[in-house]
Amino acid sequence: LFSLDGRRAFITGASGVLGAHFARVLHGAGAQVALAARRMDAVAALAADLGPRAAAVTLDVTDAAHVAAAFDAAETALGGPCDILINNAGIAVTKSFLQQEAADWDAVMAVNLRGCFLVGQEAARRLVAAKQPGAIVNIASVLGERVIPGVAGYTAAKAGLLQLTRQMAVELARYGIRVNALAPGYVATDINRDYFASEPGQAMIRRVPQRRLGSPEDLTGPLLLLASAAGAHMTGATLTVDGGHSV
Ligand code: NAD
Repeated sequence: LFSLDGRRAFITGASGVLGAHFARVLHGAGAQVALAARRMDAVAALAADLGPRAAAVTLDVTDAAHVAAAFDAAETALGGPCDILINNAGIAVTKSFLQQEAADWDAVMAVNLRGCFLVGQEAARRLVAAKQPGAIVNIASVLGERVIPGVAGYTAAKAGLLQLTRQMAVELARYGIRVNALAPGYVATDINRDYFASEPGQAMIRRVPQRRLGSPEDLTGPLLLLASAAGAHMTGATLTVDGGHSV
């Protein structure tokens, strides 16, 4: 039910903590994987470790002119269109609302929201042209529905991503393309390490009913559900994996 044999997955931000984990999970379930990152060397070791069913491709998700080239490279390396997309690349700028600058806002939107639009559209256009079904998983966040101080652009972008997910799901269902959001709670990675070392971050963990941070492994099953035939009737959904934090 959860097998991804014969599938081809494209993962953005594959050099990051969650992106690398997602790539390993999809590969382990049988998929070929295109590891997309801004610098090839950032994913070269992972590609080598995964072996012949993995390829590294260069993609800055803010660069509209190069999205098509990255998918061309993935198709050439993997032998056909990618029918799983994990829109995972993301950044956060942590400053109070009063201190956020327009450039901070623009940078976060460009990666976390516009990037998912550009890459999602490219993936979908190729699947529609090839008359193939597929699954797109947008990596959102519990912060698409809740708010903590200091991340105005991030929360707005992730909230927008939930609506983009629903929009894509409605418009792409007729082509057999499912689009869902996976919304993690707090997982200690490079994106938030400093925050969880601080007292506000520690207080945040105490407010999670399970009283712990998530781990990348906590997202393994939910990711496979959304990417595989096990989630065949799921589209437009937000799957929240947060230890009860948002309840
Ligand atoms: P991370 O910083 O380890 O990974 C983010 C990745 O995105 C990095 O590989 C980075 O190089 C890449 N990236 C940044 N800008 C890019 C660009 N312009 N083009 C291509 N790649 C770019 O952080 P992570 O925690 O692994 O984050 C992965 C995703 O999970 C993000 O979308 C993040 O918002 C989301 N998320 C994380 C948490 C958490 O607690 N860690 C919680 C909810 C959601």
